[in-house]
Amino acid sequence: MALLFALVIDPATSDDPRSDFADTFRVIDPSAPALSVGELSTQRGDGIFESIGVVDGHAQETQAHLERLAHSARICDLAAPHLEQWRQAVDAAAQHAPRHGEGVIKLILSRGVEHGPAPTAWVTVAAAADNTAVREHGIRVVTLDRGYGIDTPAKAPWLLLGAKTLSYAVNMAAIREAKRRGADDAVFVTSDGFVLEAPTASLILRIDGRFVTPAPNGGILHGTTQLSLFAHLEEEGHDTGYATLPTSALTDADAAWLVSSVRLAAPITAIDGSVMPVDAELTASFNRYLLSPRD
Ligand code: PLP
Repeated sequence: MALLFALVIDPATSDDPRSDFADTFRVIDPSAPALSVGELSTQRGDGIFESIGVVDGHAQETQAHLERLAHSARICDLAAPHLEQWRQAVDAAAQHAPRHGEGVIKLILSRGVEHGPAPTAWVTVAAAADNTAVREHGIRVVTLDRGYGIDTPAKAPWLLLGAKTLSYAVNMAAIREAKRRGADDAVFVTSDGFVLEAPTASLILRIDGRFVTPAPNGGILHGTTQLSLFAHLEEEGHDTGYATLPTSALTDADAAWLVSSVRLAAPITAIDGSVMPVDAELTASFNRYLLSPRD
């Protein structure tokens, strides 16, 4: 999607006492070159990002995204982002999102230019793709080996597994492999047989009437959509929880979804070729909730 708006942020240190950060933002032409060729984000994927869904001009779950940006920065040894500065950048960007319909605001924080003075940070706005059909008709998934064990994230923190880094080439390759296998998307599993997440979404299973998702114990991202949906389900009187789920949980489930900030809730119609029933009414209610203004 063509970008509608972009601004570069001069990152403040986390103890900056200012309350107005407008003069740290520089609006740029989103179609013109803007980054230095020395950028470590482009050379090494060395940086982090967030994708925030926007509905009718309202940025969804901004705080949860900012907290995850800070979490990713900690894992990657990047300077802590000034969350109020980023919140104001999101507000400025949201002014340029479509007034009606869906958009996406991306926040990017890079380690910056090699030997340069500071990290580089920018925000973009685009219209979102139309995900109506996938929310209604669902997606077929295949399980793919993520190539590490359930205890790897704790043993090897330098793999940055719980951070939303800019290095998404592996995630994109997994989606291409899923398509080669006749599916629409993938669900990563550990090499010792536990369920993780999709390349760009969290997995939710319904097992015996309870909604469960793999515990974000370092190996996966903690999805803001899953968090928000679980809070909503709890409010509606449902039971939810985190668990270390063996791959057998995929066959124990009587309904399953991939959830993420822009596509929202996509019901899974098949896992590795086995049909998964779709609870169409519940899925529609999930997406109604996810499309309502959420802070
Ligand atoms: N897991 C991965 C690897 C992702 O890339 C994403 C979103 O892009 C998610 C989970 C879902 O996160 P969220 O609901 O915050 O979009």
